[in-house]
Amino acid sequence: MKHNFGAGPCILPQEVFGQAADAVKDFNGLSILEVSHRSADFVKVMEEAHELVKKALNVPVGYSVLFLQGGASLGFTISALNMMRENKKAGYINTGTWSSKAIKEAKSVGIDLNVIASSEDKGFTYIPKGFDIPSDLDYVHYTSNNTIYGTQFNGIFETSAPLVCDMSSDIFSKSVDVSKFDLIYAGAQKNLGPAGATLYIVKDDVLGKSTSPFMPSYLNLKGHAEKDSMMNTPPVFSVYASMLNLRHLIANGGVEAADIRNTAKGDLLYSEIDNNPLFFGPVAKEDRSNMNVTFLLNDGAPSQIFDKMWNEANIVGLKGHRSVGGYRASMYNALTIDSVQVLVDVMKEFTRKNG
Ligand code: PMP
Repeated sequence: MKHNFGAGPCILPQEVFGQAADAVKDFNGLSILEVSHRSADFVKVMEEAHELVKKALNVPVGYSVLFLQGGASLGFTISALNMMRENKKAGYINTGTWSSKAIKEAKSVGIDLNVIASSEDKGFTYIPKGFDIPSDLDYVHYTSNNTIYGTQFNGIFETSAPLVCDMSSDIFSKSVDVSKFDLIYAGAQKNLGPAGATLYIVKDDVLGKSTSPFMPSYLNLKGHAEKDSMMNTPPVFSVYASMLNLRHLIANGGVEAADIRNTAKGDLLYSEIDNNPLFFGPVAKEDRSNMNVTFLLNDGAPSQIFDKMWNEANIVGLKGHRSVGGYRASMYNALTIDSVQVLVDVMKEFTRKNG
């Protein structure tokens, strides 16, 4: 068995892989890969997937859940277009690569963009705090978890402006007060399901209020909400497997229990990083992510030996993002604490032999 620390697409529960594989062979007599998205069987799947998102995150009345395509990358544009109001002004918090991309896309559709806080001065190794938010913004956008740098917002900051969040890499890892947000979006391929679907949770008040002169039908959330994510062909398999994974999440205690497990995994690995003399973590302690743990070897420590050791322990996906180097252990919901222990044991053994 491999221990998959990959950043996404990533590990999902083995049970979900099994059930999804079964449906590829037989979903009420057809393969899930050939079934019409308009069939009664699939319409039921879509409805259940919407309901399970609402249940798992305690989504209040007055919000729509949508499964679309395009990844969170299209979410950068969709969020800007749908949140644009008279002022065409928005505030963005820049905490790394994905926030920077969201900023670029929002500017490209005509948002007068104000970077209200950034952690770029220290290589995105912390979460900005205590920043001022101007009062004339159409919305404020941030990235709750920074998949590449390994930082995570710890709670939601106060603002009177409508709040938009890219939650791609920590959604369903812990509870979140959805009522604080006007729009949440997330690519499926971390804690939700296989790549292909993108989740939107949007306050119904937001729909149809855009002032953008440019609004292709696919980018308008109103049309998707009116058609219950069925305006065009949805990513059928990804939605099906996401539904299975949400069933699994809820059956195992929901996001509250996932949070407890994720915190235990984070504590185990961060404690090794802090106590092992050959490793260090670049991220400010209070802003550390439990989803993506970034760490480095001290200068002079033999990285080839460490790389060989974790490869031999059947660990995969531990290399840092190509833009930052070092190591990144992504520890999404389905990764067990036993897999984290395997990594910690390799780190200890490495230091015993090379320290
Ligand atoms: N935002 C975040 C926080 C991400 O981690 C990613 C992908 N890793 C993206 C956006 C881009 O997502 P996609 O590949 O689905 O477009």
